[in-house]
Amino acid sequence: MTAVALSDPVVGELRRILGEPYVLTGKADRLNRARVPAPFPVHRWAERMPDVVVMPASTEEVAEVVALANRLRIPVVPRDGGTGLTDGAVPLRGGILLDVKRINQIKEIDLVNRTCTVGTGINALKLNEVLAAHDLFYPDDPASYPCSLVGGRIGTSGWSLIGSRYGHTRDLVLSFDHVLPTGKVIHVGDGIGGKITKSSSGYQLKHLFMGHQGTLGVATEATLKLFPKPEAEFSPFWAFEDYDSAYRAVGALARAGVATFAAAVLFDEWKVDYLRRDDEAYIPQPSSVKALVCAALYGYDDEVRAGGRRLMRIARDLGARYLGDEISQGDWAARHDRYATPLHGRTRAGQVVPMSWHCEDASITYANLPAVRLAWHEIAAELRRTSDVFDDWGMFAYTNGSTGADYLTEIDIGIWERRLDDASWAAWVKAKRDLAAVALRHGGSISACHGSCREGEVDLVPEELGGGYDIMLAVKRELDPNNIMNPGKYLLDRAYS
Ligand SMILES: Cc1cc2nc3c(=O)[nH]c(=O)nc-3n(C[C@H](O)[C@H](O)[C@H](O)COP(=O)(O)OP(=O)(O)OC[C@H]3O[C@@H](n4cnc5c(N)ncnc54)[C@H](O)[C@@H]3O)c2cc1C
Repeated sequence: MTAVALSDPVVGELRRILGEPYVLTGKADRLNRARVPAPFPVHRWAERMPDVVVMPASTEEVAEVVALANRLRIPVVPRDGGTGLTDGAVPLRGGILLDVKRINQIKEIDLVNRTCTVGTGINALKLNEVLAAHDLFYPDDPASYPCSLVGGRIGTSGWSLIGSRYGHTRDLVLSFDHVLPTGKVIHVGDGIGGKITKSSSGYQLKHLFMGHQGTLGVATEATLKLFPKPEAEFSPFWAFEDYDSAYRAVGALARAGVATFAAAVLFDEWKVDYLRRDDEAYIPQPSSVKALVCAALYGYDDEVRAGGRRLMRIARDLGARYLGDEISQGDWAARHDRYATPLHGRTRAGQVVPMSWHCEDASITYANLPAVRLAWHEIAAELRRTSDVFDDWGMFAYTNGSTGADYLTEIDIGIWERRLDDASWAAWVKAKRDLAAVALRHGGSISACHGSCREGEVDLVPEELGGGYDIMLAVKRELDPNNIMNPGKYLLDRAYS
C-alpha cells in the first residue's frame, strides 16, 4: 500500500464524507496515534505513522470510509482509547487511522431488560457515572478503566479485574453493529433483538468479531449487560512469608465457591520487591513479606460480609496475615492508577532510571503456575544479563473465573525505552518468543486479554491455534478480500500469498 499524499483526492473524498474538521492530516495528529503504551525503540516511531486520521461520528460514516478504502486498497486501522498493549492500534502500513472516539453516545438505557446501547467510543468509567443514577453499573473493569473504550474492549476481547464475578468483555457485550472490511454493516449477537444472552441458531459469530484486533472490521454500536450497582465491596490483602503458602492460599480462596467472589490475585516475591523499592503508590511491607494475596468480593452488604468471613477463615488457616482495612482498601482502590504514576526501574548497578512498562499476559492453569513463574523469571534474568535496559518487575497471577481453574499470568518488565537500540530490541523480541513458548509448553494461551500481535510472540500464534489458524486465514481472506483492515497483524498476510 502506498502513502496517501496530502493533496490526494482521497483526502478530499474523506472530507466530503466526514466534514473538514474530522479529517486530520497534521503531523502531531498522526504522531499521537502512531503508538501505544507498550515500549518500542523511540528512534523508529515514525515507521508507524498513519497517513491520515479520520474521526467519524456514526456507523454510516464508518461504513462509507471503509467502503472507500476497500475500493482504493488503502489500509484502515481502528483505534479507540489506544491503550492496547499488543500494538493492535498501531498502523504498520500507513493508511487511514479510524479514530472511533466521536461515536460515544448513550443511545438507550433499558431499565426493564437491564441493558444499555452505546457508541463504541464511550469509556466505561463515563458510562458508569450516568448509570449510577439508576443504581446500575457496567462491570467491565480493566486496570485501564479510565482510558480504554468499549470498541477497544471488543477489538481485544478484554479481561476485567472483577471478571470472576461478572464475566469479561465477551460475556458483557450482548451484541453490536459491525462494519465489515467491505463497508457492509451487520449486527452480531444472540437473537435478532440484540438483548438476549443465549441463542443456538447457527454459528456464534459474536465471538468471531471480538478479539480480532481490528482485522475484521469496526464495531460501532454495542448493547451491554448491566448489573445492580454493588452495595458493598471487600478486598482483603494478606501477607505470606513464602510463595508456596501464598500459592496454596490463592487456590483455596478461588475454589471456595463463594458467590460474591470477584477476584483473587497472587503477587510473587519479585513483584513485592519491586513494589517495595520502586512503586510510590504502594504501602511498603517489611522484608519478611515474600508474597501477597488479595481477594475481592462484590454484592449486597450481607452477602459480602458472609463471604468475606469465609475467605478470611480460609486464608488464616493457610498461614496468611491480614494486612488490615486501610492497606486493603487503599491497594484495591489504586488498581486503576498503578501504571499512571511516573515509572522507573533499576539498572544492574542499581541506578534509578526512567522505564516504561511491558507485560506478558498468558493464561495458565493453576497447576502450572509455579513452573511458568520460574521459567519466566529465568528468561527475564537472561534478558537483564544481555542488556542493561531491562528490569524484572515481578509477576502476579489473577483468577480468570470463579472456579480458579486458570489465571491471567503476568510478568512485568521495565524497559529503559530511550536506550532501546536495535540490538536490545532484538533481544527483547527473542525474549517475547521465549515467554510465549513457555506458556504454550504448559498448555496455556500466549495472551489472556491483550492479544498476541507483537513481534516475537506473534510467531507462535499458528502453533497455539493449530489447525484453527488455517481457518483464521480463510476467514480473513473471505471477509477482507483486499487485506485493508489493519494489515500486517497476526501474520495474516499469509492469507493472500
Ligand atoms: C495501564 C493499563 C492497564 C491495562 N489493564 C488491562 C486490563 O486489566 N485488562 C485488559 O483486558 N486490558 C488491559 N490493558 C490493555 C488495554 O487497555 C485493553 O486491551 C483495551 O481493551 C484496549 O482498549 P482501547 O479502547 O484502548 O483500544 P485500542 O488500543 O484503541 O485498540 C485495541 C485493538 O482493538 C482494535 N479496535 C479499536 N476499536 C475498535 C472497534 N471499534 N472495533 C473493532 N476493533 C477495534 C484496534 O485496532 C486494536 O487492535 C491495559 C492497558 C494499560 C495501558
